[in-house]
Amino acid sequence: MRVFLGNSPWNTKPGYYGVRAGSRWPHFEACTERYMPFPFYLAYAAAILEKAGYDVLLVDGIAERMTTEQFIDRIQTFNPDLVVYEVSTASFLTDMDTAARVHQRIGRRPTVFCGIHEEMYHERFFAQCNLMDYTLIGEYEYNLLELVKALEAGREPVEVPGLLYRDGSGQVHKNNKPPNAPPIDEYPWPARHFLPMRVYHDVPGNIPEPSVQMWASRGCPYGCIFCAWPQIMYGNRSYRTRDPIDCIDEMEMCVKDYGMRSAYFDDDTFNIGEKRIIALCEEKMRRGLDIPWAAMARADTNTREMLVAMRRSNLWGIKYGIESANQAIVDGSDKNLDLGAAERMVKFTKRLGIKVHLTFTFGLPGETRETMEETLKFVRHVNPDSLQFSICTPFPGSKMYKYMEEKGYLVSRHWDDYDGGTTAVIRTEHLDPEDLEEMQKRAYREWEQMKIRRTFTDPLYFLKALKHPRQGYHRLKYALNVLRRTA
Ligand code: SF4
Repeated sequence: MRVFLGNSPWNTKPGYYGVRAGSRWPHFEACTERYMPFPFYLAYAAAILEKAGYDVLLVDGIAERMTTEQFIDRIQTFNPDLVVYEVSTASFLTDMDTAARVHQRIGRRPTVFCGIHEEMYHERFFAQCNLMDYTLIGEYEYNLLELVKALEAGREPVEVPGLLYRDGSGQVHKNNKPPNAPPIDEYPWPARHFLPMRVYHDVPGNIPEPSVQMWASRGCPYGCIFCAWPQIMYGNRSYRTRDPIDCIDEMEMCVKDYGMRSAYFDDDTFNIGEKRIIALCEEKMRRGLDIPWAAMARADTNTREMLVAMRRSNLWGIKYGIESANQAIVDGSDKNLDLGAAERMVKFTKRLGIKVHLTFTFGLPGETRETMEETLKFVRHVNPDSLQFSICTPFPGSKMYKYMEEKGYLVSRHWDDYDGGTTAVIRTEHLDPEDLEEMQKRAYREWEQMKIRRTFTDPLYFLKALKHPRQGYHRLKYALNVLRRTA
């Protein structure tokens, strides 16, 4: 059986490209940017199917910067028996359009939709959308294998967990059994051989390129109301970790086989479990695998010992989610983060010479002009190396979406708007969507100004600019671009 897996192109906004598979927050990036997430679920699914002996093709049309026509050419040439798309809320209308165009061009093929769009998990919606023959709920890799086995055997997929399908008479069924997800140490490594490995780009702390994106764990035990993957892809607060030795084996392979010069662990939360993290660092050092690395983490689950071990094993950068500098807002989002402890850890991280990237979002419940000002003040105070300001976007299926819906705060149900990049789809008790959009622009403007200022006033940043004049020139050009765009 021939199975095509695709991350289809998403080029509907002039001057921007959409990123979907691999991104916890599918959104548009300006064409001048290079951010490119690795399509983890698709790559794991491809590896699982290959291991089971199926003929597989995985195409990342976004990373390869394809047009939809080029993407369809690849499907047509492969001539699959089953076509699998990873979709998302913000790209969903485009995703359906792509599936329709594929049907038109190559004829009807059984089609599977999976990924982070909760609306399609409902029987009523599924029944109305005949582009989808199957929908897989949440974490789908092993359930896809079960589906492929059933189809190959000509069986009705009654046993496939987390599946919506139509039977021979057109009746819709939903298999409510929880997704089949074995311990993640049993997963084969993702099938990177299909993918343009040098294009994937997420380099906190300026870790050198090409850089490999990896997972050392899945899920998160915290319950932030806005966070989509734990709620929608995993459906619970489970936290599953990999054997540190296996992680380092995979990293070593990526260095040898793909020439990777650094690694970024893009876990939901990398740093839970001091023993495991220290073991990973020690194994990396024991093998003399000296490449720089970075990780997505929580500031309050680090211990000092853990961070020192991470630094000794050449950790260059770390991302911490802060979201808001107002403790009541953070508490209201169920993040369970003590901002004082987070700030102390940010300072300690910087003292160790690790670059800190912080993420913030505007529009969480209770947000006001004053609380947004507090966030800007916090940024000026802690002076991170890099950051991100998003506009809070409630994904259908999340607690946040339910809250906003109940309060009547959703101002758009047009999924194209749900990219969190520049469009606000909510209001708050005190703020209009325009206020949130304006604050995001202002925050980025101030941040770019702050970076220019610190280059000329802080000897550390000045020396860095002298040491890397080319990089400094590009940063300045980029900053001026942002200032012009947000003016
Ligand atoms: S701690 Fe991070 S990964 Fe975990 S639920 Fe909150 S935002 Fe999501």
